[in-house]
Amino acid sequence: MNKTVFTNNPLNRTANLRNDVNWINSIKQDQKTNYIIFYNEKPLINPSSDHSKNSEIKLFNFNQLGNLLDEAQYLVFLGQNEGESFFAVDLSNIEQIKENKNIIEESKFIDVRSIAPNLSSESTGILAQAKSMISWNNTYTYCTKCSGVKLETKDAGYKKLCNSCKTEFFPRVDPVVIMLPTYEDKCLLGRQKIFPPRMYSALAGFLEPGETIEDAVKREINEESGLTAIDVEYKFTQPWPFPFQLMIGCLANVENDILNLDNDELEDAVWLSREDLNRVFVGKSPQRIWIPPAMAIAHQLIVHWMHN
Ligand SMILES: [Zn+2]
Repeated sequence: MNKTVFTNNPLNRTANLRNDVNWINSIKQDQKTNYIIFYNEKPLINPSSDHSKNSEIKLFNFNQLGNLLDEAQYLVFLGQNEGESFFAVDLSNIEQIKENKNIIEESKFIDVRSIAPNLSSESTGILAQAKSMISWNNTYTYCTKCSGVKLETKDAGYKKLCNSCKTEFFPRVDPVVIMLPTYEDKCLLGRQKIFPPRMYSALAGFLEPGETIEDAVKREINEESGLTAIDVEYKFTQPWPFPFQLMIGCLANVENDILNLDNDELEDAVWLSREDLNRVFVGKSPQRIWIPPAMAIAHQLIVHWMHN
């Protein structure tokens, strides 16, 4: 992979220590502990105006945040790296935070998707975890069994407990299969109506309960293109924190190249050879086709297929 995002999280999650309240409280106050603050699910970023330099996540220590930590909506322990601990803090409930010059200085709350290509690969890995955890905490606030009962947050942000029926809720990940159908020396790229003009990409869909990855790939390919996949090869995954998806990248050989598109899913699809794709990469495709940027797993799957 050339430019990876969300896949290179350097933190040791030390998941076995999350339920140790005394330990969590002691590292909260450690001066080497780093806090990443979020407002409306956007992290605070120090943007770089120099194109040759990465933007950076703005990090705070315990003293800098002071009593904001007591008011925080959620505090999630992320893990440790090189002797330092990291927390994500949701301050969305503090409206005036945006005007707090001591905190904000030159930094900005920027959505993770748009800032990811300008951050180090490790920073995007940390944000994939932090953003998904903040989103999960914001989404699961009431018990689904007892109406109106607010859940208590436990285990440093990784568990929610209903004190009425004692049900425990854990962070969720939604798996999505994303795949490139291949036939002989070409691969298929499709176009959804919602895509920007002339953009084509790999096919994708949510995995359903009780389904293997292979079956989901075969089903989605058949539903969208009418093709029959005969073998499916898993390649790599990418966390996609919008809000908590996992993209599972696969290649799939298909029986023949006869398309029967479901126009509700795809408005067009094209078979492209490696030579065609080389022209796409240099902006010389006859149909002016382009593909998603390097941060997307679809891009990485296409590159992987081209070089194998
Ligand atoms: Zn309940």
